[in-house]
Amino acid sequence: MRNQRTIKKEITFSGIGLHTGKEAFVTLKPAPRNSGIVFYRRDKHALIHANILNICDTAFATTLSYNGTKIRTVEHILSALSGLGIDNILIEVVGPEIPILDGSATLFVELILEAGIAKQSAQKQFIKIIRPFVYENNHTSIACFPSNELKISYSIDFNHNAIRHQEMTIEINEFTFAKDIAPARTFGFLKDVEALRANGLAKGGSLENAVVIGDSGVINPSGLRFSNEFVRHKILDTIGDFALAGYPLIGHFVLSRSGHHANTRFLAELLACRGCYKITTENAFTNESHFSEISIQTAQTQI
Ligand SMILES: [Zn+2]
Repeated sequence: MRNQRTIKKEITFSGIGLHTGKEAFVTLKPAPRNSGIVFYRRDKHALIHANILNICDTAFATTLSYNGTKIRTVEHILSALSGLGIDNILIEVVGPEIPILDGSATLFVELILEAGIAKQSAQKQFIKIIRPFVYENNHTSIACFPSNELKISYSIDFNHNAIRHQEMTIEINEFTFAKDIAPARTFGFLKDVEALRANGLAKGGSLENAVVIGDSGVINPSGLRFSNEFVRHKILDTIGDFALAGYPLIGHFVLSRSGHHANTRFLAELLACRGCYKITTENAFTNESHFSEISIQTAQTQI
């Protein structure tokens, strides 16, 4: 059994969106037990629940929408909240897109830890996988299996010398998330930038908030934070997309060449498979974590 969590006090930050290039102002606020993760577009007076039912676009980022109001690029902040086990929070935003910050989830993790994490007097519920389930679409596959913890295995294959094949298996908890996943930045190819911008995307993208790959390799002067930063970022994105399930997942998830579209399709099909999971307060975690022990590695190279 584990208690639900929120944050101890409000946190404010601002920054530009990766795709819109527009500045947004964000305030994270503590929220009551059982209220979940909710976005509030303060400039539009609109609430948007972080739920799979509200996904409206998955091209190059995950966008949520409710009653015609959208909030874009939610996956990195959702990943940080899920990685730190936050169940209830109000994310007030003035602007159309969550700021990209440095392209990773590290700054979100730092801000949340700085505000402090509060235990709430209600038990946390989990979606626990009890039967294997497989999703396949062209070259993408996602499978899940029963396990006593959240474990992710991810493999990617890109036809570029800077990436090629990368794979990683990791058990996700507050400690591994903060240290091994949160610092991994979003990435893109220089050759795609013009086409993305012509389609109204990546307007805020720069070497300050993304790893950019040119013909001969990574062009960021500071290089990579991990030799396999790309697959780590794919895991970061997946944790953010999976946060839209409504409750934290427990199981072993094995993904190959996935992305936001496949992640969210898989989740919808999994949740429709009633015999594949149960909603439970049981989990393998016996002790509450000591957050002061979570170490965050920001821009340090780990190669
Ligand atoms: Zn991402």
